[in-house]
Amino acid sequence: MVTKDIICITCPQGCIIKVSGDLAKGEIASCEGFKCPRGKKYAENEFVHPVRILTSSVKVEGASVPLVAVRTSAPIPKEMLLPAMEEVKKITVTAPLTPGDVIVENFMGTGTDLVASGCIE
Ligand code: SF4
Repeated sequence: MVTKDIICITCPQGCIIKVSGDLAKGEIASCEGFKCPRGKKYAENEFVHPVRILTSSVKVEGASVPLVAVRTSAPIPKEMLLPAMEEVKKITVTAPLTPGDVIVENFMGTGTDLVASGCIE
């Protein structure tokens, strides 16, 4: 049994939610401290399967700046962040790019795209 204090980031109140359960089985035994159903759902997901949006930058060719900001279009599993950063280092894009342009579809098989979040001309 594992217990984690999870700060809910769903709204500015930042409730501290205590979740206990069996991580290996993905089972939740108790969840306390939330003030609304959205927070309960967030904390339970964060306990069993934490995800994050990856933000980084990639190299650019043909522009006056060397890098452009990128991010995943949706959160990816937290345990994939470091391998994903290694993958991002290998990418070089060509100008122009505008925010939202897809750089890699289905990035690392996550079902989410790597997209530009910056603009280069
Ligand atoms: S539990 Fe509800 S009220 Fe508390 S921070 Fe999360 S969303 Fe906001």
